[in-house]
Amino acid sequence: MDHSPARSTRLDSYVDRYAARTAGMTASEIRALFAVASRPEVVSLAGGMPNISGLPLDVVADSLTDVMSSRGSVALQYGSGQGDPQLREQICEVMRLEGIDAHPDDVVVTVGSQQAVDLVTRVFCDPGDVVICEAPSYVGALGVFKAYQADVVHAEMDADGLVPDALRQAIAATRAAGRRIKFLYTIPNFHNPAGVTLSAARRAEILDICRAEDVLVLEDNPYGLLGFDAEPMRAMRADEAEGVIYLGSFSKTFAPGFRVGWALAPHAVREKLVLAQESATLCPPTFSQLAVSAYLTDHDWRGQIKSFREMYRERRDAMVTALGDLMPATCTWNVPAGGFYVWLQLPEGIDAKAMLPRAVTARVAYVPGTAFYSDGFGSRFVRLSFCYPTPERIREGVARLAGVLQAEVELRETFGATAPSPGLVPRSRYDGPATDLT
Ligand code: PMP
Repeated sequence: MDHSPARSTRLDSYVDRYAARTAGMTASEIRALFAVASRPEVVSLAGGMPNISGLPLDVVADSLTDVMSSRGSVALQYGSGQGDPQLREQICEVMRLEGIDAHPDDVVVTVGSQQAVDLVTRVFCDPGDVVICEAPSYVGALGVFKAYQADVVHAEMDADGLVPDALRQAIAATRAAGRRIKFLYTIPNFHNPAGVTLSAARRAEILDICRAEDVLVLEDNPYGLLGFDAEPMRAMRADEAEGVIYLGSFSKTFAPGFRVGWALAPHAVREKLVLAQESATLCPPTFSQLAVSAYLTDHDWRGQIKSFREMYRERRDAMVTALGDLMPATCTWNVPAGGFYVWLQLPEGIDAKAMLPRAVTARVAYVPGTAFYSDGFGSRFVRLSFCYPTPERIREGVARLAGVLQAEVELRETFGATAPSPGLVPRSRYDGPATDLT
């Protein structure tokens, strides 16, 4: 593995002074498109931004006012590195919906679950250690693993989620190569980006494999309560307390702007995570934690999650209906039972990244599949998010994408392999959300 400093840009005069770990810190290749993709005329099926238009802002405002008037001096002060005790109790109540029986002492509040991924990796991974991930996997987690110079080994998924035999093989091959596996990173519910859910039988089997092979499981579950048709599935952590670190978040069930997530970890690990949290932030943001806590106390949060589920179900339906009506027969996709994402496979020979500038010119954006693999695979895949645009805009976006795809197929039939279209998109500065990471 190459641990030499980043040399990503010749214009950066600091480049020889950066730490070796910055070699993995590069903006995704599609970031340059964002300045264009975030214009209102573009239908963005790219970012996984929760649609908070469904939130009653007046109710949230009441909770915030209440926090300031009743606990203002606490809310504006430093707090515990582990997180607010009352919020940790409420987090245990939220996790009970997925069969988890946890003690608030074992919960560490984090700055979104993104920071929980970071802290767990910081605590476990030395450069060159291996993290096993699904293929594909969440781009924001892959970025964390890279930043800590851990190597990702992918294990295949199918319609029922991570394939147990693929996991067995990944473990065996990694160990046969003399490498150390630190944990399995898995997103069992409504996977980002693949949209699939790990079946109940598979959950038990994956836990059995990890127990037998002594592999820790990092269960990342921001979407578990956003199922469209059924009650939440039982978390892996509900059946295995010692071998699983569970991550949760209020970003999708409440609002991402508070940046409140958590890790539920075995006792010993929890202590290390708190120390890591203290060195990273001293404490997670007190005001945000009290705001989330007040919202959970004062508001019908279960009812709010139900209404989010209904809104996202309608958008999922709009997307899969449009795909069925408009996409060439040579495309395939899954129908997710929850969450935000559809994983689309393009006709053979079409490269999603090469096509993206042409799609943005046609006023539709998506994330190319290669973003979700650490090994360059995925060029024939596209992640489509249905969470943010209205159902009408989703249909319009899919129609535009179908047009671009049709032209791409014809181009390929005429000229062979498709090439990127340089110069189509201006490289202007973009300071909006990093929606390629969400
Ligand atoms: N894990 C997964 C699988 C995600 O999709 C996301 C955000 N899209 C996160 C973690 C991070 O979310 P947050 O930090 O907002 O909790």
